[in-house]
Amino acid sequence: MKIAVVPGDGIGKEVTPVAEEAVRHYLLDAEYIYAEVGYGRWERTGEAVTDEDIDLLKESDAVLFGAITTVPHPDYKSVILRIRKELDLYANLRPVSGPGFDIEIVRENTEGLYSGIEETGDGRSTTLRVVTRKGSERIAEFACERAKLRKKEIVIGNKANVLKSDVLFRDTCIKVAEENGIASKPMYIDALALDVLMHPKRYDVIVTTNIFGDILSDVCGFLTGGLGTLPSGNYGVKNALFEPVHGSAPDIAGRGIANPVAALRSAGMLLDYLGVDGAKNEIEESIQALLNKGISTPDLGGDIRTADFGEKVIAGIMR
Ligand code: ATP
Ligand code: MG
Repeated sequence: MKIAVVPGDGIGKEVTPVAEEAVRHYLLDAEYIYAEVGYGRWERTGEAVTDEDIDLLKESDAVLFGAITTVPHPDYKSVILRIRKELDLYANLRPVSGPGFDIEIVRENTEGLYSGIEETGDGRSTTLRVVTRKGSERIAEFACERAKLRKKEIVIGNKANVLKSDVLFRDTCIKVAEENGIASKPMYIDALALDVLMHPKRYDVIVTTNIFGDILSDVCGFLTGGLGTLPSGNYGVKNALFEPVHGSAPDIAGRGIANPVAALRSAGMLLDYLGVDGAKNEIEESIQALLNKGISTPDLGGDIRTADFGEKVIAGIMR
């Protein structure tokens, strides 16, 4: 088994080793391969990610990913967007759970407003929002597969009242849900973003387009104590990549205070994907036991350091 590890930039470098320890605890014999990609590499060599790096990720059974800084430099292209495209990681699963609620946000990951088709002109810039029937069908299928394991219902986050592209997305999702025997309810994304915070218990699987899913999952961080807690999985036909929802957080990088919970939960999702029974729950229980005792990094009100929290989580698993 081959696991690619990409710490990336900023706090990615601090939380990924913690997550890797958790993975190694269960998969001692796996082969771990490291790819140094990201903004730091770009600054030094002019290349953030090479074709060889992409091949290496493609050949792995799963990728454990940290975070990469994206800068608004005209020559710098988002690395994670390129990886998602090249590995065709079309589904981004972002679970948000806490006392009494358990939500899964399913975000379309390859098209929409992040199509990468852009033009910058003088006084006018455009970004093309691409929605295809095929792209909508496969993300709707993915959401329905999740729903089958859960409450057999999906909410479709959209803005079809304004965007023609979302009419196609919404209607395709409704059709796919029908074919799968799953109940579906379209909701406008703005109203949905508020309602999910007010009534999180009413929600189960939410499927939506790329940027809406990105924003909605950050917003849902409010329900769980912030960005440091939310994991994600990016799934394609052949590959899968697991990463925290948060970014490289340059504002707190290098201080050893980043919350590794999102990365640890991402490790749990990776182990689950690779079929390691029980690992995800054990990691979660170990995290919860610490949080319940008030042991946490500063973002959640505690004073423990990133690496120390990680050690305690592993110790909890071994107990
Ligand atoms: P990027 O461009 O890489 O996304 P960013 O500046 O948007 O970087 P994020 O990583 O998205 O930063 O974080 C947004 C805010 O949340 C920051 O203030 C950051 O300090 C905080 N944050 C994010 N992740 C964590 C974490 N794991 N632990 C503690 N705070 C975090
Ligand atoms: Mg960010």
